Amino acid sequence: MEQLLKKMEIYAQERHVPIINENGKAVLTKIIADEKPHNVLEIGTAIGYSALLIAKNSADDVHITTLELSEERANVARTFINESEYAKKVKIMLGDAAELLDQLDDRYDLIFIDAAKGQYLNYFNKVLPMLADKGVIIADNVLFRGYVQSEEKPPRRYKTIVARLREYIETVTHHAEFDTTIYENGDGLAVSHHRGKNIEKT
Ligand code: SAH
Ligand code: MG
Repeated sequence: MEQLLKKMEIYAQERHVPIINENGKAVLTKIIADEKPHNVLEIGTAIGYSALLIAKNSADDVHITTLELSEERANVARTFINESEYAKKVKIMLGDAAELLDQLDDRYDLIFIDAAKGQYLNYFNKVLPMLADKGVIIADNVLFRGYVQSEEKPPRRYKTIVARLREYIETVTHHAEFDTTIYENGDGLAVSHHRGKNIEKT
């Protein structure tokens, strides 16, 4: 498994595929190991790297559904995942995540958002009804290369993404049903724990 992950890291580096980096990986792995989820939804498969990290650190009976827009990447992911012992636990769905989410109707105890950065709030709203009581939503790259928390103006081409990520952080940190922590590790991760339906609103 370590060898396979290493091989994937090299592939990602050579082809500029933005898989979770070393520091982000540490946070993601720790949260998965703490939560031990059984049913996971991932938005943004890329080559299947984070899906394998999740599979490895979850409950033994874990099932992961992962969504990817690029057919080429989904195929690469399938090939890599088939080399692992988790082949049967990961289901890749090809298409635009926003559309695929409208077709899904399951309960997930952990949801990892890591696809189109301008769409995070849209994804969040769509996955909310599918999140299990006390489930967790993790969003990657929320600090986007340091621009999100910087006073300086981001380059023009990133303006919308940065504004939307700020909006995402704002929403999840003030949401009455969630306790959210922003980790600065890697490219920034927002970890939002659902407080549970029966919790007293403070
Ligand atoms: N989670 C992966 C990295 C994902 S990179 C890991 O850490 O290993 C983001 C991925 O989201 C890319 O592969 C990109 O093709 C995909 N993506 C971008 N827009 C999307 C969309 N609208 N629907 C589904 N996937 C999308
Ligand atoms: Mg990412």
